[in-house]
Amino acid sequence: MLLLFCVGCSKVRDSHELLHSLLWMHTSAEYHTLSVMTYQQAGDALDRALLDRRATASLEQTGDFQHLPPAVILDLDETVLDNSPFEARLMAQRTTFNQPMWEQWVQEASAQAVPGVLDFIAAARKKGVTVFFVSNRRAHQESSTRRNLEKLGIPLPTDLDTLLLEGESPFRWPPNKSSRRRYLAERYRILLLIGDDLGDFVDGARDKPEQRIALAGHHDHRWGRSWFLLPNPMYGTWETSLTPPSLTEAQKLSFKLLLLREAQ
Ligand SMILES: [Mg+2]
Repeated sequence: MLLLFCVGCSKVRDSHELLHSLLWMHTSAEYHTLSVMTYQQAGDALDRALLDRRATASLEQTGDFQHLPPAVILDLDETVLDNSPFEARLMAQRTTFNQPMWEQWVQEASAQAVPGVLDFIAAARKKGVTVFFVSNRRAHQESSTRRNLEKLGIPLPTDLDTLLLEGESPFRWPPNKSSRRRYLAERYRILLLIGDDLGDFVDGARDKPEQRIALAGHHDHRWGRSWFLLPNPMYGTWETSLTPPSLTEAQKLSFKLLLLREAQ
């Protein structure tokens, strides 16, 4: 059945579905502006949350948290670190995400900062807010990730682990980030969550697209107040949720074309 959808696949492949997403991130004033706007508004929300000790951004935060020290949780990739040059490298080589090329990119530690994030982190730290990074980069990538952050002027404390990576000992964190949010919420009052993927905020990001939209809508009162989302048109659970994982790349592309809403 799926083979029928594949007529013309190679032609579509030649135009590469990452092109416009990448150009938008690399060249548009609009991407720059959205990122800066998000971080400026997050900075304002941080000030409000610092004053309101009943405020928490974490669904995992329960009990008497009013007197816990303040913290924010940021994702890393496409929230702090801009990996669009890596995506461009994939495109230039006419390939899709693969672990060896990702490892190489992470080792290079040359990702630039997402617009607006450096000012936000500096301001938060100045106000005594601990900045945690919860990322699904893997434990063995910790030193190169730290190196990349340091190059950008984001040194990490040596007396506290603020970089919680997937699989890291002793907790062996799973890809789902809720256990890491819960761990931090037991120790800190979580003022804000900032990420580029629904999974950076709430469980259920891997569900079907309609369920994801319903889940996001259920939390509309948090967006722009304690939850801040950066744009990422290149990849994410929004994209992986579109197709069954067992399909080939060509089959996925054909499947996706069938999901487009066309004007009648
Ligand atoms: Mg991310």
